[in-house]
Amino acid sequence: MTYDAIVIGAGIAGSVVARQLAERGGQQVLVIEQRDHIGGNCYDRTDEAGVLVHEYGPHIFHTNDEGVYEYLSRFTEWYLYPQGHQVVAKVGDGLLPIPFNLNTLHQVYDEKKAAELERKLIETYGEGNRVPIMELKKSDDPDIQAIAQFVYENVFLRYTMKQWGQTPEEISPEVTGRVPVLISYDNRYFQDKYQGVPLDGFTPMFEAMLNHPNITVKLHTKATELLTIQEQAVLFEGKPYEGAIIFTGALDELYDCRFGRLPYRSLRFDFEHLETEDYQQKHSVVNYTVSEDFTRITEFVYLTGQREIGHLPCAGTTIVREYPFAYSGADGEIPYYAILNDENRALYEKYEVLTKAIPHFYLLGRLAEYKYYNMDAMARRALDLAEELIAAQK
Ligand code: UDP
Repeated sequence: MTYDAIVIGAGIAGSVVARQLAERGGQQVLVIEQRDHIGGNCYDRTDEAGVLVHEYGPHIFHTNDEGVYEYLSRFTEWYLYPQGHQVVAKVGDGLLPIPFNLNTLHQVYDEKKAAELERKLIETYGEGNRVPIMELKKSDDPDIQAIAQFVYENVFLRYTMKQWGQTPEEISPEVTGRVPVLISYDNRYFQDKYQGVPLDGFTPMFEAMLNHPNITVKLHTKATELLTIQEQAVLFEGKPYEGAIIFTGALDELYDCRFGRLPYRSLRFDFEHLETEDYQQKHSVVNYTVSEDFTRITEFVYLTGQREIGHLPCAGTTIVREYPFAYSGADGEIPYYAILNDENRALYEKYEVLTKAIPHFYLLGRLAEYKYYNMDAMARRALDLAEELIAAQK
């Protein structure tokens, strides 16, 4: 079989680009995946009790991109959260709405003080606006300073130390900026129009996407088993390969980390099944922002809507705790998050330059591009790359 394109990795980036090249481009596409399943880190499955769990931590699809929503809707129906995705932080005995918003403000301060602070926040930043914590901290108004300090200490400092091993000052502002202070009474974690998960799970959505006569998926196969990367060419099964290669894996590992390892954060997931209906009072995600060694606990029946919808019967409830640590590259470890800073970016670029010498070699995804993509942005980027490649073949 000759393939017009080879896609390395069957996560969201690889699966979307493969489907487009196969369907719209009429190309024969080989997808190589090193794990024994498709879906990348979106992969989900039912556990022994029938609870649908996300094997690699909670994944919530959210978007304002109508095109991406429509596209993925070809492969799945959705369970859209009636109230949007909501998160609380466990602080002392209380649960605070996250992102910190005007509801949180009124929970933290007494009525009179909260009303005063609310007026000041609205005057300063404008109603409905989003203010990153690192921005709020720059205010020289003592009242706003006090709020900023509260949010910094109770929401960001400990959680960020656990997640990144660094303080909020040390990490990229882009990262803490993902969860800004909201000058509104909006308890939703995301402000996007569509928020939810595939009705029957992510894995069936990926199965439908990759189910196309022009797509061949090889699981349990490392890219390097089939491909040899040379200075200016690629060999496929030992022979020169002229087609497109879309690589979605970790770029340093493709080059045996010759310039040193790209730093990533990894996670250990600790799953627990409980013979009770409810563990965290109907909250799908509780962040532990001031205590514990784990960052958050996800209770899957609420994340997936499984019990609410009632279409997949299950007994009890399953939770997962997330323990972050520095990725070392050891067997079995998974790199989840690029650590965004100038030094790491410069190292990344040394590897990127190597790939530029290879014709038709494309980098796509969180790992291959060393970026913090959300699922919808990833799907968008994959759709756009596929269009470029299809246009170029004409
Ligand atoms: N963050 C935090 N406390 C929270 C939520 C988020 O300190 O309660 C910070 C933390 O540094 C985290 C970042 O904001 O890594 C981005 O959070 P997000 O929920 O987007 O992370 P993800 O779900 O992608 O792991």
